[in-house]
Amino acid sequence: MLRGAALRVLRSGGAGTPRFASGSAAASELRRRLEKELEDIRGAGTWKSERIIASRQGPHLHLAGGGAERILNFCANNYLGLSSHPEVIRAAVEALEKFGAGLSSVRFICGTQSIHKDLEEKIARFHQREDAILYASCFDANAGIFEALLTPEDAVLSDELNHASIIDGIRLCKANKYRYKHMDMQDLEAKLQDTQKHRLRLVATDGAFSMDGDIAPLREICQLAQKYDALVFIDECHATGFLGPNGRGTDELLGVMDKVTIINSTLGKALGGAAGGYTTGPKPLIDLLRQRSRPYLFSNSLPPAVVGCASKALDLLMESNAIAQSMAAKTQRFRSKMTAAGFTISGKDHPICPVMLGDARLAAVMAEDMLSRGIYVIGFSYPVVPKGKARIRVQISAVHTDEDIDRCVEAFTEVGRKHGALP
Ligand code: PLP
Repeated sequence: MLRGAALRVLRSGGAGTPRFASGSAAASELRRRLEKELEDIRGAGTWKSERIIASRQGPHLHLAGGGAERILNFCANNYLGLSSHPEVIRAAVEALEKFGAGLSSVRFICGTQSIHKDLEEKIARFHQREDAILYASCFDANAGIFEALLTPEDAVLSDELNHASIIDGIRLCKANKYRYKHMDMQDLEAKLQDTQKHRLRLVATDGAFSMDGDIAPLREICQLAQKYDALVFIDECHATGFLGPNGRGTDELLGVMDKVTIINSTLGKALGGAAGGYTTGPKPLIDLLRQRSRPYLFSNSLPPAVVGCASKALDLLMESNAIAQSMAAKTQRFRSKMTAAGFTISGKDHPICPVMLGDARLAAVMAEDMLSRGIYVIGFSYPVVPKGKARIRVQISAVHTDEDIDRCVEAFTEVGRKHGALP
């Protein structure tokens, strides 16, 4: 017969009561240390809170607790608006029904389905490369490539503002590490000269940098790589699908598709926005990654629904360049109207449009005030960006209308005047 505490647990649903190891000095010490650390983060003003969305991703959102109010969304990486595209959703449902919820396996044991191979082939075709390999995320693709490819005899040269996942991936490898100043070709050249003693040199850069909306000088990087016999790796998370005449990315935009050796990118931004990442490049490299890359070898296969989304997104992009091109005009509209209003927008021609404000408090207060006017934008300050370079990052999507963009500019102008960011 059940009695006392056991009965109470069952009546309350059983699984809902949080448990923690009590009576252990180590557990108490851990709790004390964690609470202190959390307090320090709050005290430093760098606490990241999460807004809860109660609808699909898109240019218009409903926030949890926000009732029927529609929020105009300018802070997703949904550059092409494919995250909620009806054909992308249908493809996910079909893949789910035909291939199941998931593989319960890594790829090399029993986790490879025909759709995984089809998607890899499609990615390689899209980028005009020999082969491609899927990962659970681009973070994983970046974590897996450097260690698998580079040895202590080699060197890697990395832009100082590269994404955290590239930095972590490089940390994991045993190659000699060099960091060049952000997009500084003189510094890169000096470092390339220094690294002539090594067997192989790999220059690693984001194609487009997500905090500043600036685009790596790939033409110059490739020229230097040729001069000093180096390979070029680019992370195209903020370029794949929309930069360049056919949306192939930074290498297409800058006319160096045949000069970049390795591309890593994500399926979790412009290409449907579900999840997943990949490496595409020479076939022997992809073959080696299948044998050696730890996040690939020791992590579950991409779920079929996720594969279905990305595959359909690529079909749409390869059928026509209209979607890829549709965003450029919207980006131009926002950048030119905001500049005319008196704001400084960092970067050039990229849908990441950082509205530079300088002061961290001003960025936070203005972002809050924008939300109170129904416009969702995010303020970034130190340590995410350098001290004194606080900003509100606006991201344009192909599915924003001209009216959406004009409403955003009008709200910025009002809020900017109110808080003294504009005269
Ligand atoms: N690289 C860059 C430049 C990114 O911005 C991101 C995501 O924020 C990643 C890699 C990681 O991509 P994923 O979300 O697929 O792990």
